[in-house]
Amino acid sequence: MKVLKEGDWNAKWELKVNCATCAAELLIEESDLTSSWDYGKETTRYYVLCPLCRKAVEIPAEKLTPRLAEKLQTRPCSTWD
Ligand SMILES: [Zn+2]
Repeated sequence: MKVLKEGDWNAKWELKVNCATCAAELLIEESDLTSSWDYGKETTRYYVLCPLCRKAVEIPAEKLTPRLAEKLQTRPCSTWD
């Protein structure tokens, strides 16, 4: 199969966020993202750690591209490997 034109599947992802704890303005990349399973909400939570205050900054799932959401998808019984 030939890809005639790439969509945004492999597009570089960056997002500007503000740390809720120390108000730092951060430009995050996909390698900064971490995810964990939220048992309360039964959904995956995506977040980055602020380099200044070390607190988690939550990233809304709708800010991610489908590729990232899939890559970081967690499951309730996932092992920490
Ligand atoms: Zn911070």
